[in-house]
Amino acid sequence: MTTTYPRAERAAQARELGAQLTAAGIDGVVFGWVDNAGLTRVKSVPLAQLAHAAEYGVGAVPVFDVSLVDDSFTTTPSSTGPVGDLRLVPDLDRLTPLAAQPGWAWAPADRYAQDGTPHPGCQRLFARRVTEAVERRGLSVRAGIEIEWVVADAAGAPATAGPAYGMTRFVEHSDYLREVLRALTAQGSAVLQLHPEYAAGQFEVSVAAEGPVEAADTTMLVRHTIRAVSARNGLRVSFAPVFTEGSIGNGGHLHLSLWRAGLNLAHGGPGRHGLHPEAEQFLAGVLAELPALLALGAPGVASYLRLVPSHFAGAYRCWGLENREAALRLITGSTAGQANAELKCFDAAANPYLAIGGVLAAGLAGLDTGLPLPPETTSDPAALDAAERLPASLPEAVDAYEKSALLRQALGPELYETVLAVRRAEAELYAMHTDADVIEAVRWRY
Ligand code: GLU
Ligand code: MG
Repeated sequence: MTTTYPRAERAAQARELGAQLTAAGIDGVVFGWVDNAGLTRVKSVPLAQLAHAAEYGVGAVPVFDVSLVDDSFTTTPSSTGPVGDLRLVPDLDRLTPLAAQPGWAWAPADRYAQDGTPHPGCQRLFARRVTEAVERRGLSVRAGIEIEWVVADAAGAPATAGPAYGMTRFVEHSDYLREVLRALTAQGSAVLQLHPEYAAGQFEVSVAAEGPVEAADTTMLVRHTIRAVSARNGLRVSFAPVFTEGSIGNGGHLHLSLWRAGLNLAHGGPGRHGLHPEAEQFLAGVLAELPALLALGAPGVASYLRLVPSHFAGAYRCWGLENREAALRLITGSTAGQANAELKCFDAAANPYLAIGGVLAAGLAGLDTGLPLPPETTSDPAALDAAERLPASLPEAVDAYEKSALLRQALGPELYETVLAVRRAEAELYAMHTDADVIEAVRWRY
């Protein structure tokens, strides 16, 4: 049965929050959602409109279901072009005053039809549905996405020449990094680490694991915060899969752990490195579906310029303990709670709700079929004859996605078809471009 959200409760919640937000000097709230191309689209309302927006949502044109990374549109049989309206309904549980955009608060939004029924193309509601399917099995998932980004000067060149992981970069951007740290902390994100990364001008932040939908929300919030702090410092920022041709790119590694009754199933079990049977099956399910999942987690043409061997991007379909060239790196951690698996092949162009929802659906399928986890890869897969490369281009990933009955079923026909249309259209859009042109075209889009 189709359910609607509790409108009156949401309005009451908004009215209660309104007083606090006024006292905190907030003038308006921006509602964010991520489209199938991986771009965050927004609408905002002044505080006085928050209760109305929480009750009825704000209008959003459905054609953004088929928007591409360059803001053009493709079509699907279900898309209605310029006609129709959806309602962006903010999730007030996640409303956050923005530390680097004074006077503004942010909330992630779900998309509903005007009558309040869920929009089948809503990516966040999809992630929520799969999360509920996990919970119905008495399981829960903790997730977190690492965020890598390149800091550039006003002219668009990397804003530091300091070495990879270098103290030079830290010293040069000490105040900036402190502002990033402070803003994230003020917004309630539990930052775990912040450091210079490998590529020119690149940095990385990781935040604590949380529920799947919350982790997707957080990655959106953290990225916007980094962008806002950067803008305040006269810096530009890029989360694009590749910033400089041939160089290591920006990943969006997805960390996951599966729990039952407070027990981390990646620790203390009888399987390899302490995995419990359910965790092995879950990871086997993810590995089995990985080529198709790339259409969700590595969604752009540029994603495949990053996903190459010897770039720490996880270009091989295999798993291994602390193996940074395996798509699935197992991490035992220093404590029971920290053990997790890291999906390295995903990048920051991904819609995090699609990526996480797809991975959970694949993991659940592994559980349902009791899929065995293949043997571990304990060395660099690039040196192994038997190693299997993941799709090396967007069209290859789209081929795998097209064959995935699992993802069709999980996403539902409308969302599945829409994602397919967007992927095909982007592959077409850049089919005649050189690698350098692709990188150039999307460098500032993500
Ligand atoms: N930047 C690398 C990537 O594209 C990852 C580096 C690392 O954190 O291991 O995924
Ligand atoms: Mg990294």
